[in-house]
Amino acid sequence: MPIHFISDLHLSGDTPELNRLFDETLENWRGAIDALYILGDLFEYWIGDDDDAAYLERPLATLKRFAASTPVYVMHGNRDFLLGSGFEARSGATLLADPTLIMAEGQRILLSHGDALCTDDTAYQTFRQQSRHPDWQAALLARSLQERRMIAEHARNVSEANKAAVGMSEISDVTDSAVCALLERFDWPTLIHGHTHRPASHTHSADGHSAQRWVIRDWHGHQGGYLRLDQHGISAHLLG
Ligand code: MN
Repeated sequence: MPIHFISDLHLSGDTPELNRLFDETLENWRGAIDALYILGDLFEYWIGDDDDAAYLERPLATLKRFAASTPVYVMHGNRDFLLGSGFEARSGATLLADPTLIMAEGQRILLSHGDALCTDDTAYQTFRQQSRHPDWQAALLARSLQERRMIAEHARNVSEANKAAVGMSEISDVTDSAVCALLERFDWPTLIHGHTHRPASHTHSADGHSAQRWVIRDWHGHQGGYLRLDQHGISAHLLG
C-alpha cells in the first residue's frame, strides 16, 4: 500500500471546510495506506498541548481513530513547533525530528518541514533558533492559555502583514545552497518538504550528484493536496 505525505494544512477554528476535508480524507485513507506523514503546520498555531480550543476536538479524534490502525508521523512546522508529548497522547501520532531520513519503496527519502532551508530570511532564522530553545518554550508555556492565544494571534497578524508587504517574494522560498548542503549531508536522498506553498518537483545538482526535491501542496480554501509514494515512485495529487 502507498505512503502519503501532507503538510501545511493550517487548520484552525477559521477553516471549517479544511477541517471537514481533513476528516473525510483520513476516513477515505483508512486501511488504504501504510503510513501517513504530516510534515509540519498541521495547525495554524499550537499554543501548547493543553490547548482546549473547541475546533481541535474533531481533528484530534480523527487522527486518533486513524492512528489506531495506521502509523501517523507528525513533524513540527514553524506554526505548530510547540507540539509535544501531550499532543502525541491526544492524537495517537508520533512526533518526528526535522530532518528525518526514511527508507521506503527502495528509496532513501529525507523529510523536512522546509523552513530551515529559507536561509535568506535571516530574521526568521534568528527567531527559529530562539523559539526552538527549551528555556524559551518553557517560559512561553508558563503563561496562561489566554495569554498564549493572544501572542499566537499577534504573531500570525505580523506574519500576514509581512507577507503582504514583501508580496511573497523569494525571501520565503528555500535557497539552492541550503538545499544542496542538506542533500550533501545525507548523501543525496530524495527530499520531501512543505512550508513554501510552492508545490513542485525540482532537480538539484552539485559536484556530479543530483537529487529530486518535492514540495508538498499546502491546503487552503476548500482544497488540499498530498504526495503519494508507491512502487512507481512519487506523485502529486489534489484533494477536495
Ligand atoms: Mn510552514
